Amino acid sequence: MSPVADPARYDLEGLRDRVLAEEAGEVDDSIPELAGADADLCAIALALPDGTVRGSTQADVPFSIQSAVKPFLFALALLDTGGDALHRIGIEPTGEAFDAIKLESGTGRPPNPMVNAGALLTAALVDGGDVEGRSERIRRGLAAFAGRELDVDEDVARSEHLLGDRNHALAHLMRAEGTLEVGADDAVAVYARACATLVDAEALAVMGATLACGGVNPVTGERVLPERSARDVVSVMATCGVYDGSGRWMRSVGIPAKSSVSGAIVLSAPRTLGAAVISPPLDERGTSVRGRVASERLSDELGLHVFG
Ligand code: GLU
Repeated sequence: MSPVADPARYDLEGLRDRVLAEEAGEVDDSIPELAGADADLCAIALALPDGTVRGSTQADVPFSIQSAVKPFLFALALLDTGGDALHRIGIEPTGEAFDAIKLESGTGRPPNPMVNAGALLTAALVDGGDVEGRSERIRRGLAAFAGRELDVDEDVARSEHLLGDRNHALAHLMRAEGTLEVGADDAVAVYARACATLVDAEALAVMGATLACGGVNPVTGERVLPERSARDVVSVMATCGVYDGSGRWMRSVGIPAKSSVSGAIVLSAPRTLGAAVISPPLDERGTSVRGRVASERLSDELGLHVFG
């Protein structure tokens, strides 16, 4: 086995060059803004427990966070409901696509917070009263995880809201089951705005590191989440974060993570580091192809597999 590299000195630029050679995958076309993404955008960033943040070339290029926001929406819902969110959403992997129109049988709850049904509900459980209030609460909450202010891409938010037919269907289904208490359109609007939050690889790596460090942002020193809630969120990332590819991911990468259609992946290696990769071309399960390869290399070369 080759020696484990030091994350503080690890050659991120070299890793970026290696994964750029990978040309498979298709850019998501669910909304025009994502369809127009640069397929060659590729960045990798690490955030360490001592607050060091390291990024490759393009680690400061903004992109919409999309589903990489879901662990943080779950975290904010746990905070704002005093943990009650744990009882309102399941935590079992589905083995199905991210937007499957399906709820837990018997309870009508979303199956877990990492699929769309679950994230529509967690976004509705945060404090704020109405669409604007909840969106503002989410904006502030995400900024605390990132350690800096984050903007929203208004075009992405509008398209997600208008074109997210399956999300509207899921919200109506949860209303019918009594699991979603806010209006269906309001729930989609808040979730769409959360997905449209702009981050770059460095900001997303810090968000992942905040979970990896038990809820304390290593850059600002702020406790953003109780330790037990951070553990809950990372556990669900480990089992459900890569949708119907979660088992394969856990075997080959072995780091709790969340994938997204923008091609972003956020990783939280407990007590060790947060990482983020962005590269828009996706495999058939909606995971960034280069993101997966980069994550496998990082896991192997930094010795990050949780069962390693
Ligand atoms: N905004 C996307 C949707 O709800 C997120 C899906 C993803 O990133 O996997 O369809």
